[in-house]
Amino acid sequence: MTDTENVISPFHGDHDHSHCQSQAMESALQQCKEQGLKLTTIRQQVLEIIWASHNPIGAYDVLQKLQEAGHKPAPPTAYRALDFLVAAKLVHRVESLNAYIGCPSPGASHQCQFYICTQCGHIAELNSLEVTAALKNGAQELGFKSVQPVIEIHGICSNCQ
Ligand SMILES: [Zn+2]
Ligand SMILES: [Zn+2]
Ligand SMILES: [Zn+2]
Repeated sequence: MTDTENVISPFHGDHDHSHCQSQAMESALQQCKEQGLKLTTIRQQVLEIIWASHNPIGAYDVLQKLQEAGHKPAPPTAYRALDFLVAAKLVHRVESLNAYIGCPSPGASHQCQFYICTQCGHIAELNSLEVTAALKNGAQELGFKSVQPVIEIHGICSNCQ
């Protein structure tokens, strides 16, 4: 038995990113179907922009990219699309960076730890069941109802060292 699931590599260097993108779109469609959600055009456009890379992107930059691509949604529309993608767990909000990143495995249980490289900006996502269990125990001891245990670890990735 392993204590981690969904170890996601930071995708450094050469790889066929179009594969990541098509995979992400495919699983987004599937997730929406399973959850009875609708992946509207604007939501899909926002998701595509976020998946342009494995680096986080801020809400304002998403809006700018939409405009560059010739879409002119009202800012609240774009922000609502972002909120939708986060709620559907297709995208994660990285609180410490105030930015968004695409989730490579939206169907997984989400008790994420994010390893954020402060040099190149890459983010690796990990779901360690051990960490999750420790957090749950701690919360129980304190009588604390933990709502969203998200851990963001800043450091330097193997590629940048
Ligand atoms: Zn990629
Ligand atoms: Zn995720
Ligand atoms: Zn790095």
